[in-house]
Amino acid sequence: MRTPLIAGNWKMNKTHLEAIHFVEQLGHELADHDPKKVEVVLCPPATALRSVQTTLDDRHQNLGLGAQNMHHENEGAFTGEISPLMLKSLRVKYVILGHSERRQMFGDTNESVNAKVRAAFAHDLVPIMCCGETDLERENNHTEARIEAQVREGLAGLTEDRARRLVVAYEPVWAIGTGKTATPEDAQTTISFIRGLLTDLFADEVSSAIRILYGGSMKSGNAASLLRQSDIDGGLVGGASASLDASEFAAMIKAVTA
Ligand code: PGA
Repeated sequence: MRTPLIAGNWKMNKTHLEAIHFVEQLGHELADHDPKKVEVVLCPPATALRSVQTTLDDRHQNLGLGAQNMHHENEGAFTGEISPLMLKSLRVKYVILGHSERRQMFGDTNESVNAKVRAAFAHDLVPIMCCGETDLERENNHTEARIEAQVREGLAGLTEDRARRLVVAYEPVWAIGTGKTATPEDAQTTISFIRGLLTDLFADEVSSAIRILYGGSMKSGNAASLLRQSDIDGGLVGGASASLDASEFAAMIKAVTA
């Protein structure tokens, strides 16, 4: 069975001191949380990774650590970039790749996302590979074509052995940071389409092990109904909704574990 996963994507928010404060508060509120029921992962900005890692290691080992992006090379002349080796040495477990903000503003393409997905697995990091359609693509009935290209090209060349550990996040761009959430039924329809694509790429037993998250204005009030859908295995939760407020984030985790 797939263990649900809730990942908080902090985006470009919180200094390292604010991050420590957040983790202490969240850790306190989730002191009894059982990660076997729902895995909880925090994805702070790179400048706070080390502080969050030591705080989690010292006191809150039931919460996990993820990064928001990385370069595919191990090292080199790539000013401003962060490598999989650097993440690995901070005991980062997950890395968000191909978020729509990176695709729209920082030039990520299906091809570069694919290089990053392969590099992540090569270093034993688990990619949370994002896909999703824009408002315009949705209006023009291009949702499936867009997602199919993102999934097929993003995962090109991936072995089944690695694929079974993959996490995919379906994030309709029109729902990110807008307060508009896809209905649980609509999210389920698209996520089951994604699972169908995965079944086409990999053996049934592999595609049914891959966790697919929903992202886009998920919060404590709607998380449980989204996660009740048969193919939705958790959420990627950003700043506009719940991930930056420790009490709201804790309330969401409690809502989905209740
Ligand atoms: P949101 O963002 O929860 O603020 O809509 C989700 C995301 O961008 O991952």
